[in-house]
Amino acid sequence: MRPLNNVWNAGGVIYLSMFKKILGLKEKILDILFPVHCLNCGKAALPHRSLSEGGGWVCGDCLGFVNFEGVFLCPRCGDHTYIGRACKRCVPPHSPSVPRQVGEQGEIEGVYLNKSYLNGLVAMGKYSDKFLQKLIKSLKFQYITDLESVFDKLVKRFCLKYSAVFPQNAIIVPVPLHPLRLRERGFNQAEYIAKFINGALGYEISNVLQRIRYTYRQSELPKEMREKNIRGAFKYCHSESPDQDREAKNLAGAERPLAEILHSVQDDNFRRVPEIIILVDDVYTSGGTMQECAKTLKEAGAKEVWGFVLARG
Ligand SMILES: [Zn+2]
Ligand SMILES: [Zn+2]
Repeated sequence: MRPLNNVWNAGGVIYLSMFKKILGLKEKILDILFPVHCLNCGKAALPHRSLSEGGGWVCGDCLGFVNFEGVFLCPRCGDHTYIGRACKRCVPPHSPSVPRQVGEQGEIEGVYLNKSYLNGLVAMGKYSDKFLQKLIKSLKFQYITDLESVFDKLVKRFCLKYSAVFPQNAIIVPVPLHPLRLRERGFNQAEYIAKFINGALGYEISNVLQRIRYTYRQSELPKEMREKNIRGAFKYCHSESPDQDREAKNLAGAERPLAEILHSVQDDNFRRVPEIIILVDDVYTSGGTMQECAKTLKEAGAKEVWGFVLARG
């Protein structure tokens, strides 16, 4: 039997190496037929190679130039603050654990205007950076699968460099898209960013927010209408369905063994509102969307909500 086994093993190795060669050939042909150029400098790039081999939609030279030095400002007024924490002037007067008084000073229709429901905001870069802007627009509208590895690398690099500014024991919650917008786009870019953070820091992802109202794009509205447009657009939903949770974990690329998932389902903690949350989106401009999400999460019982974005406008 032994010689026969060896023959089979040898055959397997030959087939595998042939298969790899065919795959490599296919990628080379694709690179010749559909050449791509670096999104920044226009130099020919090799999209079918891994980033470590100099492939991708951004060349190795430009990848090193992306300005992701971090923007740490109060989410509401934009003052420089320690690690991007909301300044004292901008934090709503009530604590989320203390029920609010109706008509509390400064409150209009349940909203504290010009106050920050986010405890802080960490942005990787500035949206005014033209290269960064191009990368984000490309991620959102065209090349999610192609740019995934570029962003994965950039987000990981940032998260590891600034790991100390991220709150400990936090759960990552991506800003949800309305189901209609999700169907139109085919993916939620915030979920991808959440996945990259999960890969870098190991924090779990939980899709506990739902968008229950279709809204106009915030960027298409004048500033004074944005707050009203987004008000009441989100709902907190307990992550009670194991399927929903498993889906989030599959996206995170870290599915746990079934026994562990079943244990979580039986565990009361599974249904508890996460105390510390990192809310994730691609861009923060006027902040209306993330502030509304943070408000919804705090009303559900979250104690601390931090924002994380690729760029701040
Ligand atoms: Zn380049
Ligand atoms: Zn402030």
